[in-house]
Amino acid sequence: MLHLLIELGKRKITLFGICLVAAATLAVVYIAGWHAGSMGQRPALINEAQAAGKEAPPRLSPTQPLPTQDVYYPGTEGLAPDEMRVIACGTGHPMARPKQAASCWLVELGNGDKFIFDLGSQSLSRIAAMKIPMDYLDKIFISHLHVDHMGDLPDFWTISRKMNRTVPLRVWGPSGAKPELGTKAAIEGLKKFLLWDDLSLRGRMDARAERWEVNEFDYQGVNQAVYQENGVTIRSLPAIHAIDGSVSFILEWNGMRFAFSGDTSPNKWWLKYTKGVDIAVHECYDTPKTAIDKLNYQPEMALFLTTIVHTAPEQFGKIMAETRPRLAVGYHFFNDHDTLPEALKGVRKTYDGPVVFSTDYMVFNITKADIRVRMAAVDEDIWPQPATRKKVVNPETQAKYGEFTASGEVIMRDVLEDVWADINKRYGINAQLPPPK
Ligand SMILES: [Zn+2]
Ligand SMILES: [Zn+2]
Repeated sequence: MLHLLIELGKRKITLFGICLVAAATLAVVYIAGWHAGSMGQRPALINEAQAAGKEAPPRLSPTQPLPTQDVYYPGTEGLAPDEMRVIACGTGHPMARPKQAASCWLVELGNGDKFIFDLGSQSLSRIAAMKIPMDYLDKIFISHLHVDHMGDLPDFWTISRKMNRTVPLRVWGPSGAKPELGTKAAIEGLKKFLLWDDLSLRGRMDARAERWEVNEFDYQGVNQAVYQENGVTIRSLPAIHAIDGSVSFILEWNGMRFAFSGDTSPNKWWLKYTKGVDIAVHECYDTPKTAIDKLNYQPEMALFLTTIVHTAPEQFGKIMAETRPRLAVGYHFFNDHDTLPEALKGVRKTYDGPVVFSTDYMVFNITKADIRVRMAAVDEDIWPQPATRKKVVNPETQAKYGEFTASGEVIMRDVLEDVWADINKRYGINAQLPPPK
């Protein structure tokens, strides 16, 4: 077991790390070690109380499982009533790649609430890998309408119906400079885009899951509460990115705060309102050099993109130095063996506090006493989780084939009679094949 305990004055940050993705683990351990070293401390293998003989070391059994896990196995760990779990489900660039989907962060709270912040391209597969019933994943907060922050929204709405969602999908997102540039208009457009798909599922999947609840709020609102339920408040802050209509979010619950930047260049609102949050997930884009060398951008464009439209590592570090979160988390860059040291070098010019550069499937367990960082060990053979209640299906709303399509149908009754009889017997039902025409 790798158990690193780092004392930071009155604050403690505990890092556990072993992971499937070697690069990501090395990144965490490297940074943790760097930080401990910078504080003149050596990581300890047992905690202080155990070392002082005040507490028994963990009891080990030759036959039972170990008392702790160094990786997070989705679906196997409860949350304490005062605990927050944050899972990186998309940390990369706009171009999703096998290692990193586009922006997506899942926040789970000890009161049972779960929230998704951004739903970028290819993030749905990461969400599915967390083995959470879709009925619990009905609250989605979108930071802005770039596809790398909402591109999986159409997938999520329709595919989660096939994955046993039985509740309406609730979406919060900012307005834009004009009504047609806001979240509401974007989702009206999505509904049109998805009409064929929607009709194909009506009367076959749960009727309640067809519904959208869209909550568009003013992108100019400063620290405005856009969600207040069950002891959870989510606030929005204006962000500066590309065109009007980007926001950042702060989730407050149980005396803890999670801040999420979306895309933004440094701005006065983040600097003022996120001071001392428990975890600050903020974009930390490529260095200009990486954008030139690896994204193949022209130098002028690379400078503009990385430092004006986004936040470069030096800027990220300065933001964290001024706001001093318990843990700073950088995302929104391709986190590779060569780019990570570059990002770290930039950040360390301006910030000496605790920082992690995330990659997909990184998991943060947060309590007032500890922040634990691990990687998830993901089962690649994922199946949908069940619904949490009985489905309501209205077959009378099914769209029927037209005359032309129906005229080509070959039912193959001789083959299907056995198949239908077998299922009727196994599951105690009495379904009948459609009558011959
Ligand atoms: Zn963007
Ligand atoms: Zn982005």
